[in-house]
Amino acid sequence: MTVQTAEGKTDLKSLSFQGLCEFVRALGGSDHNAGVIWRQLYLADVTDLGALTGITRALRAALVERAYLHRLTPAFVLDSHDGTRKFVWSLPEGGQIESVLIPDSMPSRGRPRLTLCISSQVGCAMACRFCLTGDLGLKRNLRPSEIVGQVQQVREQLAPGQRITNLVFMGMGEPLHNLDNLIIALGTLFDDAAFNFSHRKVTVSTVGLVPQLRRLAALSPVSFAVSLNATTEEQRRQIMPITRRYSLDELMRACRELPLAHSKRITYEYVMMEGFNTSDDDLERLWRLMDGLPSKVNLIPYNENPDREIRRPSADRVREWQHYLVTRGVQTSVRHTRGTDISAACGQLGKASLGEQIPEAALG
Ligand code: SF4
Repeated sequence: MTVQTAEGKTDLKSLSFQGLCEFVRALGGSDHNAGVIWRQLYLADVTDLGALTGITRALRAALVERAYLHRLTPAFVLDSHDGTRKFVWSLPEGGQIESVLIPDSMPSRGRPRLTLCISSQVGCAMACRFCLTGDLGLKRNLRPSEIVGQVQQVREQLAPGQRITNLVFMGMGEPLHNLDNLIIALGTLFDDAAFNFSHRKVTVSTVGLVPQLRRLAALSPVSFAVSLNATTEEQRRQIMPITRRYSLDELMRACRELPLAHSKRITYEYVMMEGFNTSDDDLERLWRLMDGLPSKVNLIPYNENPDREIRRPSADRVREWQHYLVTRGVQTSVRHTRGTDISAACGQLGKASLGEQIPEAALG
């Protein structure tokens, strides 16, 4: 894939390593030269092609003339009282995307976890009823350079000794709806001469685009989180329009058939909405859906906001659900709400793009 600007320049960071080799060969260089350049782009964080070293002057000049290095434009950063940070980036055509950095709320022994939640699209076409990003509709797909750029440019702002340990594709957009660009970006993120993330530390979330789910699982041992949120076809259709195209039954069959690496589990996200999907019958159906599957359930009490009439269940109800599932052998966690004061919590991304008032106290 080559992405070119109006001036006909190639977006180098939207190329896979293979793509970079082909590009460099076309400029008269070698695969060795491509390796030297690749490492400088991602390990040395070079931002100016004219500053590349270890290649001939002629190749450097050709790169300056024919290619460019994409950088996201920072709009602002919001800091939550709980340590969560939201990075908002401005796009050249207008609009914004967001990335959210989430420190571990309960650091366990060993290295503390620092998770970066990244966006894959501008807006989203999936229109899940409970999600504010869905209100935007899809504006466009993010290019690979804009996906890995979120990781690289947030990394630049970390304190000495800090490191992003986990990546989750749970920001704006449905990652599998931008699959070709996602695959290139994942290749760069996993490459040990670039970002060197372990497959186990990168999770791709999906509403259930079944063919794309099967394709990515066949290509990459990445971890998956399936946004489930309902236990019957009818109920899921009401809140997740994608169910009209790929039924719950089809989705669960695909999940059962994925070639998962040994000991891997799919995470099933379940946004709990009081009076809609939190009855005893829902709970029993959820357990039956998980029965015998290598799964982990993540219960997400709905983050209330004035734009929706959906209510959050009580903490007791959430605990009851967790207890019920755990005692029946289903690994179950509850997602603790983070960053609500800066609209960085699940389902709240995109408020800035909708003209949200930024709370002054949160400006970092
Ligand atoms: S929940 Fe995810 S897939 Fe659904 S509308 Fe929101 S961003 Fe899109």
